[in-house]
Amino acid sequence: MILDALARPLRNLRLSVTDRCNLRCQYCMPEEEYVWLPREDILSFEECALLVDVFCDLGVDKVRLTGGEPLLRKGVEALIRMLAANPRITDLAMTTNGVLLSEHAQTLRAAGLHRVTVSLDTLRAERFKALAKRELHPRVLEGIEAVGQAGFPRLKLDAVVIRGTNDDELGELLEYGRRVGAEVRFIEYMDVGGAIHWSMDRVVSRAEMLEVIGRRYGAVVPVAEESTAPADRFVLPDGYVFGIISSTTQPFCRACDRSRLTADGLWYLCLYATQGTDLRRAVRSGATREEMKHLIVATWRQRAARGAEERLAMADRRAPLVQVGELKRDPHLEMHTRGG
Ligand code: SAM
Ligand code: SF4
Repeated sequence: MILDALARPLRNLRLSVTDRCNLRCQYCMPEEEYVWLPREDILSFEECALLVDVFCDLGVDKVRLTGGEPLLRKGVEALIRMLAANPRITDLAMTTNGVLLSEHAQTLRAAGLHRVTVSLDTLRAERFKALAKRELHPRVLEGIEAVGQAGFPRLKLDAVVIRGTNDDELGELLEYGRRVGAEVRFIEYMDVGGAIHWSMDRVVSRAEMLEVIGRRYGAVVPVAEESTAPADRFVLPDGYVFGIISSTTQPFCRACDRSRLTADGLWYLCLYATQGTDLRRAVRSGATREEMKHLIVATWRQRAARGAEERLAMADRRAPLVQVGELKRDPHLEMHTRGG
């Protein structure tokens, strides 16, 4: 097992397959126009599969396809087929905004995808329009229904909770999750790249969410489990389980085994990192498998990142991570580029 400087293993790889998106969620892509990665830099599926295979040699066994919107990547099912054929990947998942999911759910399942997480911040079409700047809410709900019909055994629904935007919908989202057989996970609003309108007073903390949910349902009990998953899970009195990802107020850096590969092959060791390691160059310059492994191991061993904990320590000085100008100069700093 390859350990980093804080004894964290290399296990969990998030693969961004495109930086493009068909929504403009205000906490992620509040601008209409963006600087996109050059097309010629985007890794081919063969290059992605090769890199993932090298990562698997080093201990990675969980792979999540993300983006941007991963379903915008043409023929993404072909990549899933390649990854699904790799027996070392025991968990092959995708995070999607759901807009194109009803068209893809069957083919994704047939290609071998294990499970899907859909982002769903609101149940109200008008609110969705204000939040994501597109009138596509019905498509997302259709997408969610299609997941069960396609035979996926599990579904998670992720909601970023923002004060004054959707923080009055916690109970409704839980009820919806229950109805469609999904585990709902509430995500604290994070001050990541791209979140240029972030401010601490718009963050609804895990403690506050638990209080609101407790008032509606009665005692909410933590689920006792050993896990490196970002969500802490809780159970309602009637047995329904939901999660909270509290990266902003109670970060979990100490157990973080995640790293991120952008669609153009830059490898980031933390969501808050400003520098990545160029694996595209390694692949395209004809590096041998051993050379690639060497580069990855040497980089991981030096990893001491505790980005979310460092942000927490900033207390009152905390503000958006990067400003628009910097994001335009280096789009790799954007959440939608590095894969949330
Ligand atoms: N487009 C896909 C989607 O929305 O599911 C995948 C990429 S998106 C960047 C992955 C996740 O990051 C989504 O669940 C999204 O809600 C979350 N995200 C984006 N910006 C965020 C922020 N500022 N704070 C917390 N979560 C955020
Ligand atoms: Fe929204 Fe995901 Fe697109 Fe970001 S990448 S704008 S979170 S749908």
